[in-house]
Amino acid sequence: MGKPKNTRDWSNKGCEKCRVAWETHQQLDEVAVSRARKALLYRCRYCDTYWEQGRHLDTLSVEEVALHYPKVVG
Ligand SMILES: [Zn+2]
Repeated sequence: MGKPKNTRDWSNKGCEKCRVAWETHQQLDEVAVSRARKALLYRCRYCDTYWEQGRHLDTLSVEEVALHYPKVVG
């Protein structure tokens, strides 16, 4: 079971619980879908980190979430 590809600084992202969830193909809580970005937005219930899974899997800052998923924040 490898780390998701195209993701730098993996050990600095989110918390151990959500990293392990991705590494073991468990679902985080899905909070939004973006057709424009062809991506799904997830949120870790433990550390509140937002994760976006589209072409790549990466964390998003709250500012990025507000920009791309305005219904989620604010
Ligand atoms: Zn987490």
